[in-house]
Amino acid sequence: MPIVAATKESIAPAAEALVNGEMVAFPTETVYGLGANALDAAAVTKVFACKERPRFNPLIVHVLGLDQAQSYAAVNETARKLAERFWPGPLSLVLPRKRNCAIADLVTAGLNTVALRAPNHPVARALLETAKLPIAAPSANRSGRVSPTTAAHVEAELGELPAMILDGGPCKLGLESTVLGIEGDQVTLLRLGALSRQEIDNVLGRKLALHGGGGKVSSPGQLSIHYAPATPLRLEARTPRGGEAFLAFGPHAPLYAGPMINLSEQGDLSEATNKFFAALRSLDAIGATAIAVMPIPNQGLGEAINDRLQRAAQARLSSPASRFDDARTTAPKRPSEATLDAMVRIVGEDHAIREPAAMAPYLVEWRDRYVGRAALVLKPASAAEVAAILKRANETRTDIVPQGGNTGLVGGQIPFESGHEVVVSLSRMTHVRDIDLNGNTMTVEAGLVLANAQAVAASAGRLFPLSLASEGSCQIGGVLATNAGGTAVLAYGSARDLTLGLEVVLADGRVWNGLKRLRKDNSGYDLKDLFIGSEGTLGIITAAVLRLLPKPAEIVTAFAGLSHLESAAAFFTRAYALAGPMLTAFELLPRIGLDFALKHGADTRDPLHSAHPWYVLFELSSQRDDGEVARLAEMLLSEGIEAKEIDDAVIAASLAQRRELWRLRELMSEVQKHEGGSIKHDVAVPVARMPEFIARANQLVELMIPGARPVPFGHLGDGNIHYNVSQPPSMDRAVFLANWEALNAAVHEIVLDLDGSISAEHGIGRLKRDLLRHAKQPLELEMMRKIKNAFDPYGILNPGKLL
Ligand SMILES: Cc1cc2nc3c(=O)[nH]c(=O)nc-3n(C[C@H](O)[C@H](O)[C@H](O)COP(=O)(O)OP(=O)(O)OC[C@H]3O[C@@H](n4cnc5c(N)ncnc54)[C@H](O)[C@@H]3O)c2cc1C
Repeated sequence: MPIVAATKESIAPAAEALVNGEMVAFPTETVYGLGANALDAAAVTKVFACKERPRFNPLIVHVLGLDQAQSYAAVNETARKLAERFWPGPLSLVLPRKRNCAIADLVTAGLNTVALRAPNHPVARALLETAKLPIAAPSANRSGRVSPTTAAHVEAELGELPAMILDGGPCKLGLESTVLGIEGDQVTLLRLGALSRQEIDNVLGRKLALHGGGGKVSSPGQLSIHYAPATPLRLEARTPRGGEAFLAFGPHAPLYAGPMINLSEQGDLSEATNKFFAALRSLDAIGATAIAVMPIPNQGLGEAINDRLQRAAQARLSSPASRFDDARTTAPKRPSEATLDAMVRIVGEDHAIREPAAMAPYLVEWRDRYVGRAALVLKPASAAEVAAILKRANETRTDIVPQGGNTGLVGGQIPFESGHEVVVSLSRMTHVRDIDLNGNTMTVEAGLVLANAQAVAASAGRLFPLSLASEGSCQIGGVLATNAGGTAVLAYGSARDLTLGLEVVLADGRVWNGLKRLRKDNSGYDLKDLFIGSEGTLGIITAAVLRLLPKPAEIVTAFAGLSHLESAAAFFTRAYALAGPMLTAFELLPRIGLDFALKHGADTRDPLHSAHPWYVLFELSSQRDDGEVARLAEMLLSEGIEAKEIDDAVIAASLAQRRELWRLRELMSEVQKHEGGSIKHDVAVPVARMPEFIARANQLVELMIPGARPVPFGHLGDGNIHYNVSQPPSMDRAVFLANWEALNAAVHEIVLDLDGSISAEHGIGRLKRDLLRHAKQPLELEMMRKIKNAFDPYGILNPGKLL
């Protein structure tokens, strides 16, 4: 149990733990902090990992006073005046870092400023005096949650993760410090807090303006979604509604029989500030439909309370579906034995799996990231059987997880850990129902493996161009449910572009026959497009009409080495201008990825004589076998070399060589497994900004996890990069992987800054569900939620995924 009463005896081991690179939670007069030695990057890394805090969000460093502050930051007259008046106390100053500042870069998120505060709590001061270190300490809670004001709150949030939690009783002020940025004479209010704006105005003799933020985090505490309880907030509520908890303020609060806390019956804002976070926590624990919050005067300390309330409400506003979904996924009811028996009877005993050992292959995904449990796995043979299963599931509110080839990379096809969901595998539905050579379509069932669909098209003298490294396992239903992309999107589009019609079983068991073969159909909403990319949350796809294309008569594949990433974008522009629609693939590989492939992939060899930092693999295709694309490829390569965009290149001279080149590209994901842990991102940015994205992301990785090895590769022609990061060779795999969320958050921040997408082709699933709330506009999320409710009112289809 890490809670220890803060006494002379316990301060010494706590200080020693800090010196040894451990985390210690301690009280300050504002909130409890999670402290680490600010000079020790490894110790600070633990704080970020423990809090799941994005690395672009800097930390406040606690010092004893001005003397110590001056070792790390340039303290000008204005800063001195403020510190002399308010330190020790609830004021943090963001000051220019000194040149030789020893504070770890991670603490300041690479900024050239550092946030400093001298706390006034006797325990915090004793710890600083004994440890003789600056202590980096954000609030001791998981990132984005309600700040802790007692030792018990810290323990509830972080358990045994800190080496010690020093208990110094409830915090006197109960709200974080006020943060000011100081540049020369200019003072900017970066965060409202426990020191009121008026008190600062009085010292400065002028009115402070609140920093607008502009989306960039320039100091601690600026994230727009901070301090959020799990229960949604309803602000400006004068009276509570049934089922709500009530956070009241002042002498005129209405009487309420439900759960209620009055922050101050006298209307005293200091008392309200002090009780605020603890009250939010207590009401959050009740499980009410919402917390109704009475208006709080927006003056003095009330400004800071309103600031926290706005941010907490913001988190919920951007996820209108979350509470409903959380309830479905964290506490779904196990279906009764009668329900399970009835479902087994639909498919027959031979096609239902109940034993946990036999279910195992359906419960773990390709990268072992998610391992679920299920009540049952069912393998229906027809749309009618799927319909009967869903009808029963809808009536009994049984949660269903559709599954295809189980190659999805975002966990959408894996049930949750509760063991209460039923997996419906489409793997027995593999029939080719029809091939129409005049209309150039084929109608196939959802369980047909993609490579088999390609083979069926090829044997009919046609091309089904969708191509992914997982094509030997993924199924048509899965690729449509995820709107898969792959290497041929450049010329032929993604799964959506290759689909004309669908057959879908709806949540209530009705079957929609939308198996149209039309290229043109403007008769209202395009319903098939709703199901494509819906990741099993709107219906189960049982069959599809796919477009077929003429088989190319000539294909030329080339592999080129480049010195600079910028040249890859320029060379792509040249290739597209020259070859137009004949350019059917354009992929990017880094040298480190090629090294991994040569080291771990069987029968691989370097296609070029010397090493190059980057490579592109591209393909030109033509319907005529007249040597035109071969001539084009040669012209392109010689122009590229002349323009110094590429350094060297090879053109595949045979089908075997072509396969060898493609194998290098296809091995990119797999070989990273042999290099330890790998943190993945599947992102898209405008093609021209890809070099900037990779440069910024690489810089960030080095800052966050020194020695980690970025392996960015992918579909350059579509602006889609798989920005994967392999662990530093000497690092423990689990320690590295603990950075997954934090690194994702920071990389995605860059992606959004470049107008990109956090999921280019793999979808959202379980992995990116929380990220979606930050990446989409509230209105987009609301529309998606309405669509989900219309198609699946009881939320039985893949709950907790995507939305
Ligand atoms: C090595 C490797 C390389 C990959 N390369 C690419 C790539 O280049 N481009 C790309 O886009 N993806 C790629 N992927 C990801 C993956 O292959 C694709 O997302 C694929 O489309 C998933 O198909 P699946 O049949 O395996 O679906 P699953 O993994 O079984 O399921 C994926 C999602 O679809 C839902 N689902 C499955 N079947 C149905 C159905 N019949 N009806 C409704 N919902 C359903 C599931 O519930 C889940 O949410 C790769 C994966 C691997 C392992």
